[in-house]
Amino acid sequence: MDETQLTQSLIGFDTVSPPGNEEKCARYIRDFLKDLHVEGSSVEVYRFASGRANVVATFPGDSPGLMLAGHIDVVPPGDASAWSSPPFEGRVRDGKVYGRGAADMKGGVAAMLVAIASARRKKLKRSLSFVGTGGEEIGYDGLRVMIGAGKLEGLKARCGVVGEPTEMSPVRGHRGSLVTKVEFHGKPAHSSDPSLGVNSIEKAVMFVEALQALRKELAKAEDPDLGHAILTPTIIQGGTKSNVIPASCVLTMDGRTVPGIESRTILDGLTAVMESIRRKDRSFTADIEVLYETAPLSIGAKDEVVKLAEAITGSPSTIAAYATEAADYTKLGIPSIVLGPGSIKQAHIYDEFVAVSQLKAAVSAYGRFISTVCG
Ligand SMILES: [Zn+2]
Repeated sequence: MDETQLTQSLIGFDTVSPPGNEEKCARYIRDFLKDLHVEGSSVEVYRFASGRANVVATFPGDSPGLMLAGHIDVVPPGDASAWSSPPFEGRVRDGKVYGRGAADMKGGVAAMLVAIASARRKKLKRSLSFVGTGGEEIGYDGLRVMIGAGKLEGLKARCGVVGEPTEMSPVRGHRGSLVTKVEFHGKPAHSSDPSLGVNSIEKAVMFVEALQALRKELAKAEDPDLGHAILTPTIIQGGTKSNVIPASCVLTMDGRTVPGIESRTILDGLTAVMESIRRKDRSFTADIEVLYETAPLSIGAKDEVVKLAEAITGSPSTIAAYATEAADYTKLGIPSIVLGPGSIKQAHIYDEFVAVSQLKAAVSAYGRFISTVCG
């Protein structure tokens, strides 16, 4: 099976997140890799919820080598009638494979699997691994469950490639994200006498004002590649009736993180802001909840995997605006770049496609990664 046919097959599995339903797709990939009959290889489907699964494969070597990774879930297709061909058909037209996930990122996964299959008869000096995760599109739940359960502790690699669509140009960094929700608690009362209640909207205003100093502080640390961290209030909701002192007000904030100013720094800063208000106003109570969090990625421009990716693709490495699981793998000790077929512009849209020429370029690049890193 070539990379185009395999991309079509993977598109055929409806792995829309939520809910995910990646298990059948994970089993299909497991069977594909098991059928290579590589001596000493291990290929496992890791189920983390009903119908939800990751797949992890390792091909042995004498020392840690390369990890190839990607996610197998996709975003919803939206209105199927807005597509020129059914979103889970994978139709090939004018040198492109169309379907949900073609670019993001079943094409990348297919190219990795074909590159692994091409290397099956070579005796690898260093190990080669593949990780296919579920739930990437809804907060990396598949990967995080595996990491939390210690399932990736045995995965050793000196570098990794995550095949998200980059048009085969290496990406060595991106900011992380932190979405938080703060609920301010008040006490309802008739608004004809506000002194009988506690106004949660006024507490939220105090907080937003006090936040300015923290936002300035966060902006001081400048990463040469990624700029500075950002924290922005984006949604506020409170109150129920014009004549009732509001008992609850909820503020949602979007944060972007960089190395050195990560989620922990921002959360500690938010807690400190709350405590400083509470010292002056005992009626101030609020709690904070993390809704979504991804880590920043920053691989040095001179790092081995960056140099190798630049040499193989002939393209300079760049910085991306979106976040990927490469940051989580890098935190596990596997410095990972992002490099894959298709364009991020194609991700999440109607008539998503990946060019067959991009798939071929990806198979060739991943093959060179395998032969260079794994020997
Ligand atoms: Zn993706």
